[in-house]
Amino acid sequence: MSDPAKKLCPECGSEMSLAVESYPMGSAFLHERFHVDIFRCRKCGRVELFASEKAKMVTCPVCGATHSPKEKCPICAINTAFSGHAAD
Ligand SMILES: [Zn+2]
Ligand SMILES: [Zn+2]
Repeated sequence: MSDPAKKLCPECGSEMSLAVESYPMGSAFLHERFHVDIFRCRKCGRVELFASEKAKMVTCPVCGATHSPKEKCPICAINTAFSGHAAD
């Protein structure tokens, strides 16, 4: 197992630094969102995306969709919006 925190730039071989952690790809309308860690090379500016290993997805007990534990279930939020009831 290699150290997941250490990414080397494929361009110049320098160590890349984590620029954005667990960035959600796609929109809230996608059933399953994909989180990535964005690494940037300080030397040449190259940016690489890696599948986030820290974002542990949770499964919604209501609709079964997987989403980040940091946010409310996007599917249920949409369902609530379309059902005519207030989101709160
Ligand atoms: Zn580089
Ligand atoms: Zn849900």
